[in-house]
Amino acid sequence: MPELPEVQTVVNTLIPRVRGAKIRQVRLFRLDIVTPANIDLVTRLTDHAIQKIERRGKRIVFTLEDENRFYIHLGMSGRLTVESPGAAVVKHTHLILELTTAKGNGSIELRFSDPRRFGGVFWLGGDDPGGDMGPEPMTIRAQELAAKLKGTNRFIKTALLDQKLIAGLGNIYVDEALHAAGIYPKTRADRLKREQVQRLVISIKKVLNRALRHRGSTLRDFVDGDGLEGAFQKLHRVYDRADKPCLKCGTAIRRIVLGARSTHFCPNCQGRG
Ligand SMILES: [Zn+2]
Repeated sequence: MPELPEVQTVVNTLIPRVRGAKIRQVRLFRLDIVTPANIDLVTRLTDHAIQKIERRGKRIVFTLEDENRFYIHLGMSGRLTVESPGAAVVKHTHLILELTTAKGNGSIELRFSDPRRFGGVFWLGGDDPGGDMGPEPMTIRAQELAAKLKGTNRFIKTALLDQKLIAGLGNIYVDEALHAAGIYPKTRADRLKREQVQRLVISIKKVLNRALRHRGSTLRDFVDGDGLEGAFQKLHRVYDRADKPCLKCGTAIRRIVLGARSTHFCPNCQGRG
């Protein structure tokens, strides 16, 4: 599932092409990808310009020139790409926005496809795109995270996946950050020591920054707005590396299942296993 680095990479590739463009026509092929169900997305979007594109958590947030907003969530397998109008439409394309570029002299299409349909288009109107979410990991302070972790006795791995506690992290980057910080994934969140939380915050930022520099991880479906895959999957240290040697100490990486999610860690570097 695309996490913060992948979603930010999509946003970075969309901005130069889509910002300022006017939505000339909306082709919506499946009504059930739109939330809330009663919103007339086609009318709301047609003839409006896209003023801003940004990321909040794992959401790609669009602000229109009338200040209404909507966001697209890529779910498990979603792709949001810029195509030329003549390009073949791939299967499971649910939405096409026909755009006139900001300079007014070109036509492009912003296409959303999602075979597994865990993603979708969410109309916000004037609502805050992150009102129901925790703070952003790139700017969170250790004190802030420590206060949040104090309030939960879940495993640290499970707590960090909770978008209300901290926004934008998923399975890959939580496993990678816990390994970088040397923290056992089944440690109770409220029992982390202050220096562990400090190390964790530094590790989260470091791992996300490295992933961003490599344009995210492509395990199966992820591509950026230009249709290009990321490269960070080659640099994972624990995620999807069960039984391979830890790159710090050589011990075999272990895979366990926590809260129905696979979890990878080094039993030596991360305490116990
Ligand atoms: Zn190790």
